[in-house]
Amino acid sequence: MDRLTFVTKSAEQTQSFAERLAHLLEPGTVLLLEGDLGAGKTTFTQGLAKGLGIRRNVNSPTFTIIKEYKGRLPLYHMDVYRLTDAEEDLGFDEYFYGEGVCVVEWAHLIEQQLPEHYLKIVISHKGNDEREISIEPKGDRYVRMSEELMK
Ligand code: ADP
Ligand code: MG
Repeated sequence: MDRLTFVTKSAEQTQSFAERLAHLLEPGTVLLLEGDLGAGKTTFTQGLAKGLGIRRNVNSPTFTIIKEYKGRLPLYHMDVYRLTDAEEDLGFDEYFYGEGVCVVEWAHLIEQQLPEHYLKIVISHKGNDEREISIEPKGDRYVRMSEELMK
């Protein structure tokens, strides 16, 4: 499987989709989130957080780079957009290979530091409130996760 696509017609639909994905997540999961500003990366992460049982409001971590939330699994929400040096290592491996779920917004900016396996999620504008969510798994575990999502 290379790629799966889903279309949502509102922010709420994107959140419920993410919530459904949250139930399939295991410790050490890495999700890469790509898409233009306003595509819905943070909205998606909010749904994911809800699905992980996180009560706190999740907002964009732009100025802090990494934010941690406690849920069924810890959620590490990263936004590397403002990282000025792509080589700068903020201890990413401890998160990527840790016990929680990592969500990385603008992941391609730290390409050299990414783990080998991950689920890449690309959100794109289709007009008004419509978005296409494309899922690209890298590694067996993420292929299985994507297959579950299709059911
Ligand atoms: P990003 O983090 O990618 O910059 P945000 O999630 O912060 O984007 O913002 C997305 C905006 O688009 C929000 O205001 C959200 O309510 C709105 N929106 C409208 N339709 C959708 C949709 N189908 N999916 C996600 N967000 C949507
Ligand atoms: Mg954002």
